Amino acid sequence: MTKPYLLNLSQVELKELLTTWGEPAYRAGQIETWLYQRHAADVAEMSNLPKSLRLRLAEETGLNSLRPVVALDSSDGYTHKTLFALPDGREIEAVLMRYDQRQTLCISTQAGCAMACPFCATGQMGFMRNLSAGEIVAQVLYYARQLDQEGRRVTNIVFMGMGEPLANYAETWRAVRRLNDPAGFNLGARHMTISTVGLVPAIRRMSKEPEQVGLAVSLHAPTDELRNTIVPINRRYPLGMLMPALRDYIAATHRRVTFEYALMDRLNDSEAQAGQLADLLRGLLCHVNLIPLNPTPNSPWSGSPDERVYAFRDRLEAAGIPTTVRLRRGIDIAAGCGQLHNAHHQGNMALAFSG
Ligand code: SAH
Repeated sequence: MTKPYLLNLSQVELKELLTTWGEPAYRAGQIETWLYQRHAADVAEMSNLPKSLRLRLAEETGLNSLRPVVALDSSDGYTHKTLFALPDGREIEAVLMRYDQRQTLCISTQAGCAMACPFCATGQMGFMRNLSAGEIVAQVLYYARQLDQEGRRVTNIVFMGMGEPLANYAETWRAVRRLNDPAGFNLGARHMTISTVGLVPAIRRMSKEPEQVGLAVSLHAPTDELRNTIVPINRRYPLGMLMPALRDYIAATHRRVTFEYALMDRLNDSEAQAGQLADLLRGLLCHVNLIPLNPTPNSPWSGSPDERVYAFRDRLEAAGIPTTVRLRRGIDIAAGCGQLHNAHHQGNMALAFSG
């Protein structure tokens, strides 16, 4: 654990390490190119480095922090999910979704989550620890390598896997910068989206960041009374604090906010509640994503039937709120947040990773 993890080093830190080894500073740029642009899985691949340096890097630094434990394809073949073990045995998940000409990755920022949303599989397992920036970036590089073999690339990244990204603000933002950096992974910030339960101080901080990363808010209810039970952090940051923070965010960034709303049968899916939601969002530069709740074993609630989903959407659209209904993509591989981890440990997941 004392070995420096290469993906956690900024270019400055990498240069410092190489300098203490008596290596020229330009090697740092070469190594970064191998890591983030050629997606090297092993320092042995870094063929323009002297062999002695490759050996020393292999001995004294770490590169592979993620060990795939389970990998699953959805039956339609469009969604691929991997459960990874970290060096300390904690487990996280990442999902690749393919649609249109896009390859969207959904990545984790924490092992577990402290937000305790009762419907969410990760919320049910509790908080283990924050991921480092390198552990966040490693999920992207793992899939980038797989896509390289098909001549494809990662086109979009959503921070919507396990954990609450804004509760691990510093490491999440370091990962964003590394992924955005032209000398790093070089993905445009507008192709990244951070999803949050609504941590108000962090949203205010995010509105001052120079990177134009998208913001999604897991709203799930139009009133404090209901949201307190579905998203418990609402007790600390109620709608009366959250909505002004989002208005200020939009005024500062001119970027559209996405609201996630998981429809739960006869809990938050009535047309009257759609009307309340429309009132809450009126005049806001926003978009609503509706998704019927993906059932989790310990959730007290279940997903809404299709006709209520469409009725809810129609009510929002009639009020002029742009709304999309999300398909239950990857439902057969438990692609909801935290679900693969649980299924694996309950022993009802057949496909173990070989390798
Ligand atoms: N903590 C962050 C990001 C992780 S969850 C957040 O809450 O936004 C990513 C999204 O998946 C959130 O909108 C979350 O509410 C939603 N989600 C979690 N479990 C779900 C389930 N079983 N069905 C549908 N959506 C779910």
